[in-house]
Amino acid sequence: MKQVETIKVRNLTTGYRNSKGDKCVTRCLDASLYPGELTCLLGPNGAGKSTLLRTLAGFQKPLSGFVEIAGRPLADYSGKDLARTISVVLTEKPLLDNMDVETLVGLGRAPYTGFWGRLSVRDKDAVNNAISLAGIEPLRYRMVQSLSDGERQKVMIAKAFAQETPVIFLDEPTAFLDYPSKVEIMLLLYSFAHKMEKTIFMSTHDLDMAMQLSDRIWLMDKKLGVKTGTHEELIQSGDMELYFDNRGILFDKADGLFKIDLKKKEELRFKSDNI
Ligand code: ADP
Repeated sequence: MKQVETIKVRNLTTGYRNSKGDKCVTRCLDASLYPGELTCLLGPNGAGKSTLLRTLAGFQKPLSGFVEIAGRPLADYSGKDLARTISVVLTEKPLLDNMDVETLVGLGRAPYTGFWGRLSVRDKDAVNNAISLAGIEPLRYRMVQSLSDGERQKVMIAKAFAQETPVIFLDEPTAFLDYPSKVEIMLLLYSFAHKMEKTIFMSTHDLDMAMQLSDRIWLMDKKLGVKTGTHEELIQSGDMELYFDNRGILFDKADGLFKIDLKKKEELRFKSDNI
């Protein structure tokens, strides 16, 4: 049975418009995101990952093309509708340090609360549920500034869970974390997407983790553009190797993992022996 996409992107060009003209970042993208799936966006720094995430989240306008979310053009969404549809977790440390974890997670309810932000019983249930799903009950009364990077990231994800949106975008949620914390965050997002039928889209540099713990991958490169597919599709098409060629990394088809290109290491050793 054909899956129905949550987000449909057609002929989308992202970028920046200024008085000197347009700066295109990603051109003519056709792609889709699906419910119940974790999709990883991979690409080198400067490839355009954040620009694409910001465009799909409605934070910046596309230069051209079309984005549809849940059957409705993105351009037709009001700010409030969008906040009830997409939650966004950014890499920057929150500026909201002087509060406890429960209060911060409660801010995820902002699209539903009135002007004063007072939480109803229903809102409090959503906060409790999010805290439990993210496994951060022991952190509930801790001040945000006292948390480790990994703990803070889980709290920011719990805030997104509390927002109860069908779609969650995350910009490098595993950056700056130690390895076990990265795995914990990936497992949390993967199981949440599957259990709750959410559409989760995240950028990351953690290639092997993306290979093992995502349903679909978008490969992004300034020159090659964007290729999307399941791991098997991207391996079969040769794109997985192509996108990491010449960057000191080899994709090993046999076990589906990335390896350091030892030939590059030998070349460097040979060069330094001959200086
Ligand atoms: P990534 O997230 O993959 O590192 P970005 O989306 O941040 O890449 O950047 C993609 C390109 O867009 C880069 O060339 C970057 O310099 C450029 N860029 C980012 N922000 C702006 C901006 N506000 N105005 C103009 N160009 C920008």
